Amino acid sequence: MNLILLGPPGAGKGTQAKRLSDQFGLAQISTGDMLRAEVAAGSDVGQLAKAVMEAGQLVSDEIIIRMLGARVERADCANGFILDGFPRTVPQAEALDALLAAKGLDLDAVVELRVDDAKLVERIAGRFTCASCGAGYHDSFKPTVVAGVCDVCAGTSFTRRADDNRETVIARLDAYHRQTAPLLPYYAARGRLKTVDGMATMDEVAQQIAAVLPQRVAS
Ligand code: AMP
Repeated sequence: MNLILLGPPGAGKGTQAKRLSDQFGLAQISTGDMLRAEVAAGSDVGQLAKAVMEAGQLVSDEIIIRMLGARVERADCANGFILDGFPRTVPQAEALDALLAAKGLDLDAVVELRVDDAKLVERIAGRFTCASCGAGYHDSFKPTVVAGVCDVCAGTSFTRRADDNRETVIARLDAYHRQTAPLLPYYAARGRLKTVDGMATMDEVAQQIAAVLPQRVAS
């Protein structure tokens, strides 16, 4: 069971991918998280990716495809995976098709989280995360109950992604529309595309996703 979540930055892909991964025992693969780990480790890939990410642009297909290819070989993918943030270009989608075909696998569904661009800048620019447990918050929509203290673990240290500022978010949205949106007709033509309303609440979006998954995946 292999799924893709498609949508612009801030659409809620990470949140829904985590839920689906817990629910169906699928590996959650976020190329953004993998790249941030490379940047933090100061690896060769991380050094190449850092400036590109901070500018809100896309890292080269070659790097991403190589990274993803190695990732899907890991044991936790045996039951299938959910891709969050990959593919982001048509060449990446073609590489994924080839990779799956070589393994005798297929995509079960590509779920688009459709959201209103105007809301995204506001959604993303206020995001922050507990540095200890990773719980996610938002300045306006989901602040901590006690200012400066994590609701989950009582940690007092928080992080914000370097690319979650207004200027970079606008560049990321532009990259989405120019380079990633062509994947919508790509997967529609293959009969894989399902669209849900990403503006609904997290629970409602989860319900909509469950309703569009093929029966053998959802059951
Ligand atoms: P994300 O966490 O998915 O929003 O990704 C953060 C940043 O990592 C993006 O703005 C890109 O610079 C880079 N990135 C993540 N996934 C990809 C991908 N599949 N192709 C190219 N760049 C990517």
